[in-house]
Amino acid sequence: MSFESGLAGKVAIVTGGSRGIGRAIVELLAAQGVDVNFFYRGNEAAALEVVASVTAAGGKAAALQVDISDSAACIEAVNAVADRCERIDILVNNAGIVRDNLMAVMEDNEISEVLETNIGGVFNVTRPVIPFMMSQRAGRIVNLSSVAGNKAGRGQANYAASKGAVDAVTRALAVELASRKILVNAVAPGVIDTEMSLQVRELADDEVKAKILLKRYGQAQEVANVVAFLVSDMASYVTGQILYVDGGFKMA
Ligand code: NAD
Repeated sequence: MSFESGLAGKVAIVTGGSRGIGRAIVELLAAQGVDVNFFYRGNEAAALEVVASVTAAGGKAAALQVDISDSAACIEAVNAVADRCERIDILVNNAGIVRDNLMAVMEDNEISEVLETNIGGVFNVTRPVIPFMMSQRAGRIVNLSSVAGNKAGRGQANYAASKGAVDAVTRALAVELASRKILVNAVAPGVIDTEMSLQVRELADDEVKAKILLKRYGQAQEVANVVAFLVSDMASYVTGQILYVDGGFKMA
């Protein structure tokens, strides 16, 4: 017996692939032989650097500039990927933002931007992808949730709501799409060493680490590993799950 990912030749869409966890996912899937199409919001230089790094390593990646909170743009981009690659096997809804603030003084845009990106984006990208997976009678969808959807911190009511919604949509879609052999799961990271968590890590370093069983932050690669597992042949009997990659943070 050997571990076979079965990923070579598959076609993927990864949102928010130009940095952080998304970049690690793009690079890992491409290294497994996946043709990876990733969406980025605005930083073209960073996106091109990811494409160059994947290409230099012998993999395939293409970058598309798409704001996932724009439904029409998502439909157009998904169709462009399907036109070019003729199928879509894997969708990783990774892009997300934080706008932390205490609820009493939270601005309207801090609520709307987080919800429109973190959960609206999941709807906008997933809806146009589903018909392709349905006609293939196969597909894997992985949504990036967060420990915050389950164990929230101060100032994160907007983010917690968005990630709780991601968990709920993950379970609902797993039920809806199981008969078409489309598996839907979520990965819920704890505190991962990326630009997103920089402020938290700088403001309350020891306090945060003390609450993590493994007493360290996670690396983007460690989250990407679990995403790759969930989209691989190794996870062919897993659906509707929220998999925590948090060093034991939720339990502590
Ligand atoms: P990051 O800020 O480093 O990267 C997020 C990526 O999403 C960026 O490339 C950004 O451009 C993209 N993005 C944001 N809004 C977008 C939009 N409207 N359209 C297209 N792209 C957009 O964050 P990260 O740490 O890599 O986080 C990735 C995912 O993991 C997010 O969903 C985040 O909520 C989740 N997460 C991260 C942590 C952590 O500690 N870093 C913890 C739990 C969950």
